[in-house]
Amino acid sequence: ATPTALLVGTGRGAQLGILIRGPEVLESTRAVDTVVLDKTGTITTGRMMLADLTADRTDETTLLRLAGAVEAASEHPIARAVAEAARREGASGPGEVPTVASFQSDGGLGVHGVVDGTLVIVGRPSYVAEWAMPLSARLEDARRSAELAGATAVAVGWDGAARGILVVSDTVRPTAAEAVRRLRALGLRPVLLTGDNEAAARSAATAVGIDDVVAGVLPQGKVDEITRLQRAGRVVAMVGDGVNDAPALVAADLGIAMGTGTDAAIEAADLTLVRDDVLAVADAIRLSRRTLRIIR
Ligand code: ADP
Ligand code: MG
Repeated sequence: ATPTALLVGTGRGAQLGILIRGPEVLESTRAVDTVVLDKTGTITTGRMMLADLTADRTDETTLLRLAGAVEAASEHPIARAVAEAARREGASGPGEVPTVASFQSDGGLGVHGVVDGTLVIVGRPSYVAEWAMPLSARLEDARRSAELAGATAVAVGWDGAARGILVVSDTVRPTAAEAVRRLRALGLRPVLLTGDNEAAARSAATAVGIDDVVAGVLPQGKVDEITRLQRAGRVVAMVGDGVNDAPALVAADLGIAMGTGTDAAIEAADLTLVRDDVLAVADAIRLSRRTLRIIR
């Protein structure tokens, strides 16, 4: 490939809303045969909503107030949904969510911090259980029915007990199914990869026509899955948006970030989809194939 021809490709990329880190990136897209897609924020809009909540050994107002205070310090899509609901529905009136101290985030697991002198844990049920706050039978039921419905159940605990399940849900991007069809038309194999639960992952995968699903993974697990595919001889593109996707974007042969993704994802990626449209993944791969065909 001559540098001039590749630069023509990058110019066309800009027109399509694809930001390319450097001309050499187009060379690596050519050999890609597998496209791994993150779920939340990539296949789905990433604009989550609080759909339901169950309180146990506390009341709903306290549950939302404490969880909302911790989540207000996090940028995770789940956190935004919870903090927003707490601001809207707080009994103390809008905008009166207490501030959190000693906030900490455990990527892909959950968050914790001190609110009104109490250490509050919010995250995966298994993460909250690790703080010696396992779900009661009532909360376990709430978790199970949320997940059966394809939603995400987030546990909340303090003072030595799990005290609530918050149910958050997301919507599949309107263009995601078409994006997957176009990837298949190019001979690419789509894989859905997510830290979310198996049922939520399956429901999103079914909606967009993906059969291969890897769910419940930790951020390091995302890297491991990319490496596993590469060892099996695949050339892998990874599409993601979150802080937790950044290591996997680096590990992939081609890293693609959503335009509204976190800075960490955009910095880690080779390509950024400026218009935040997952349809552009197929455009990017088609563009590089065409550019390289012209110059051969
Ligand atoms: P995805 O791979 O779908 O983008 P993540 O790896 O970011 O998901 O998160 C995986 C899981 O970790 C979430 O489904 C949730 O259970 C938990 N989690 C992560 N961050 C938070 C948070 N700020 N608040 C509540 N739960 C969280
Ligand atoms: Mg994501």
